[in-house]
Amino acid sequence: MRKRDRERFEKLLLEQREQLASQHGQMGDAARRTPRESSGELSAYTHHMADLGTDAMAREQSFLLAANLSRTLSEIDDALQRIKGGGFGVCEVCRRPIEPKRLQALPYARDCIGCREDRDRRGDAPGAGRP
Ligand SMILES: [Zn+2]
Repeated sequence: MRKRDRERFEKLLLEQREQLASQHGQMGDAARRTPRESSGELSAYTHHMADLGTDAMAREQSFLLAANLSRTLSEIDDALQRIKGGGFGVCEVCRRPIEPKRLQALPYARDCIGCREDRDRRGDAPGAGRP
């Protein structure tokens, strides 16, 4: 890969990283916020019980989203390491260059389209089926 291309992808990755990091910050706030923390009235108690399920679900959802975001963030960090240390844009499975259009869409991709499709067919995408 040419130096110019590497620099372009590095810029792309840094931009995505910044975006995700700010999203991640907002997400953390939402997950930490306690519902109805200011309400001390007795009548609020029953409402609170009724809403408990929804609140828990919303928190679970933002937790999952935040977990996804931090996984993507660490993928981006890894890709930035590869740009500096070498190995960026090379498929980790077959060691062939990753298609430029794939890198354009997913600059932190670790595998080429062929290997990705193979893996999807076998159903062992990263994170899938793990506890
Ligand atoms: Zn490959």
